[in-house]
Amino acid sequence: MPASEPLLPSFRGQILAPGDDGYEQARRVHNGMIDKRPALITRCVGVADIADAVRYATAHWLEISVRGGGHNVGGRAVTEGGLMIDLSAMKSVHVDAAARTAVCEGGALWRELNRETQLHGLAVTGGVVGSTGVAGLTLGGGLGWLMSKFGLALDNLLAVTVVLADGSVVRASAAHHPDLFWALRGGGGNFGVAAAFEFRLHPLGPLTTGGLAAFAPPDTRAVLRGWRAMMATAGDDLTSVAALISAPDGSGAKIAGIAACHTGAQPEAEAAMAHIRSFGTVVHDALGPIPYTTLNTMMDGDYPRGAHNYWKSAFMPELSDAAIEVLAEAHAACPSGMSQLAIEHLHGAVCRVPLDATACTLRTAGFNALVVGQWQDPALSAPTIAWVRETFARLQPFVTRQQYVNYVATDEDTNAAARGAYGPHFERLQAIKRQYDPGNVFHLNVNIVP
Ligand SMILES: Cc1cc2nc3c(=O)[nH]c(=O)nc-3n(C[C@H](O)[C@H](O)[C@H](O)COP(=O)(O)OP(=O)(O)OC[C@H]3O[C@@H](n4cnc5c(N)ncnc54)[C@H](O)[C@@H]3O)c2cc1C
Repeated sequence: MPASEPLLPSFRGQILAPGDDGYEQARRVHNGMIDKRPALITRCVGVADIADAVRYATAHWLEISVRGGGHNVGGRAVTEGGLMIDLSAMKSVHVDAAARTAVCEGGALWRELNRETQLHGLAVTGGVVGSTGVAGLTLGGGLGWLMSKFGLALDNLLAVTVVLADGSVVRASAAHHPDLFWALRGGGGNFGVAAAFEFRLHPLGPLTTGGLAAFAPPDTRAVLRGWRAMMATAGDDLTSVAALISAPDGSGAKIAGIAACHTGAQPEAEAAMAHIRSFGTVVHDALGPIPYTTLNTMMDGDYPRGAHNYWKSAFMPELSDAAIEVLAEAHAACPSGMSQLAIEHLHGAVCRVPLDATACTLRTAGFNALVVGQWQDPALSAPTIAWVRETFARLQPFVTRQQYVNYVATDEDTNAAARGAYGPHFERLQAIKRQYDPGNVFHLNVNIVP
């Protein structure tokens, strides 16, 4: 038993301090650039453990960080010298198939939740890759394959069990603590530690239609124009992302890819896939019937844990020809094969939720432009970071100040990012923060200063 364990006598989970077995592994998150050393890591196994950890940290003036899936590229799940509340052992998922609901603990990953819900032919919007945490993704928004049909992940929340800054536990829902429930849906980790989430589920699959098509290098601009036209009239069944990537064969060829998910009937879904193939010369065709759980994990290998990540993103109301030109030029100049430019399209159910229904502001149809710097070789650090910054600067004429809180970069001023991300909701969020966390105990996030 590590010497640090008696610190919290009632704690059921594991407490790790520097030097303990497992500490080095536990302090690491998805982004290999993040190299912080918490004084303590409390690996909780229940809600009472979380409450103990919050009380201990506040009593000892230790900065708190909260780790759900550990996927945030900003690395805010880890504190330097403080106490990390690690939920990675809290992964249980209980599906009530008759009620079409699921309750999932705060450390579950999307592939773990999807596996359980799909046993019953049910699903909820989750991230496009399976290795992302349910908690951070949902609290910030939750863009994913099913969003055009079922809304963002957070639009499907029925309740959240939260440990507040004073260590007390509440269940926030439309009926209980409605202000807190509103704020949790978009406000990220600002309001407490989410121990469990209750989601509404929808019948889906197991088969959907989708996957990825990649096109010959000269077709990049034409592919983006074709995709833009298709998405302008896309119905709720189609969700799609355009990605300017490097061929995975090591050739370094710069190719455009269109990834898609269609939840509708086979004839309509196949017609949509045929439409995508018509954008250019297809060099790789992996579009077709695909189990939802496979779709959700097909790209996991493209984002390996421990790779270095530096991202920037912003909302782009239109994908103009001028923006396509900048994207194509930046794609050609990309220094690392694992990096990419991704463009997510928002429409359908996401945009029908009234702006003031939740704290999340991603309700306008349009595009989310994402400059993804990702690399393994340290020699690529400087050129890739410079490429991300330069590309993002060149995109400024086409984007708004609004950005998705879950993509805020490592080096950004999170207070400024919060104002930009929350826009008209910022002051209401600030008032709720004053009520539930006046001391700003939970500040390692895109922070709403009380
Ligand atoms: C490869 C990759 C793919 C991605 N794909 C998508 C995508 O398809 N759609 C999308 O919307 N986003 C996507 N994201 C972004 C993702 O939403 C964020 O990284 C999100 O923060 C991940 O949640 P997590 O629990 O894994 O994060 P963590 O790093 O564990 O936590 C991030 C922050 O969330 C808060 N938090 C986490 N857990 C809790 C909790 N239980 N209670 C309270 N606060 C908590 C904390 O503030 C913490 O600092 C992707 C990221 C990566 C790296």
